[in-house]
Amino acid sequence: MDAIAAAQVLSEIGYLLRQDPKEVYRARAFSAAAWALALERPDLDALHKANKLTAIEGVGAGIAKVLAGLVEDGQSSYLERLRTETGQPARDDESVIDLGAYQGDLHSHTDWSDGRATMLEMARAAKALGYRYLGVTDHSPRIKVVNGLDAERLLAQSREREQVENEVEGLALLQGIEVDILEDGSLDLPDAVLELLDVVVASPHVKLRQEASSMTERMLRAVSNPNVDIVGHPTGRRPGSREGASYDFEAVFREAARHGVALEIDCDPARMDLSPEHARLALECGCNFSLDADAHAPAEFAYVPMAAWMARRAGIPMDRILNFTALEGLTMIAK
Ligand SMILES: [Zn+2]
Ligand SMILES: [Zn+2]
Repeated sequence: MDAIAAAQVLSEIGYLLRQDPKEVYRARAFSAAAWALALERPDLDALHKANKLTAIEGVGAGIAKVLAGLVEDGQSSYLERLRTETGQPARDDESVIDLGAYQGDLHSHTDWSDGRATMLEMARAAKALGYRYLGVTDHSPRIKVVNGLDAERLLAQSREREQVENEVEGLALLQGIEVDILEDGSLDLPDAVLELLDVVVASPHVKLRQEASSMTERMLRAVSNPNVDIVGHPTGRRPGSREGASYDFEAVFREAARHGVALEIDCDPARMDLSPEHARLALECGCNFSLDADAHAPAEFAYVPMAAWMARRAGIPMDRILNFTALEGLTMIAK
């Protein structure tokens, strides 16, 4: 079994464990080990043969046992048991996701807001992964703690974008924003600013416990804004610690589909939002998807390969996932 396939198994185990608050530490251990596998891509067969699976970062005896099972018979009885216990079995209509066809990532952060790396470092990492484009989507001004960008700082950032793009050949940097969806569904930057950007990810970050009917109104208004391309982590949930927003998902997803707004599957193990169940509903409503790392550091790009099982589980075909679209085919850029 290759490291990425194994990473997806560990990622799913971590995801299922997170649904039990008592298992939060074990869940994190599985997610961390999945991340190490996705980053380092070790030769699992060779390590297993040499009895050295625990040499992988974050892999102790318990996780090594799961990996040994994967190497020996290509599946994990532990995962099967968790799937049964949580009522989230594998389905026979899963899609096939070829990560080798991956073109880029549309949601990332730099040290212009709360990212921990420069735009150049992020661009180099994306390029090293073979990406053709990267959406640089730092935060909007509302949340002060993340040093969000107003129009003036976005303009300054666009100059740096140009420099970095010249330096990292073959990678297109899309200038964007992760704009906050305010309580009333308006956005945290004026339309006149948003319409200048290549990619606009609109995300709910605060007041997630709003009553369902006003939350529905809020999300409907956000997806109706013609400048919005993607709804970021559409529920704002943090599995195991914070329940996400509750709203009329079907109504919002249908409206998103009508406006050509994609829904995100945020692959950060702390988020994994949309869930496979919600993503399946969105698929039936006609939505497209963006599978994003929401990376705040270069190593976090590996969140997508480890969590790609979520799109597969939701049955989403690759032609409905923006990341597999070549740069020229991304309609949002022309929009
Ligand atoms: Zn966000
Ligand atoms: Zn983000």
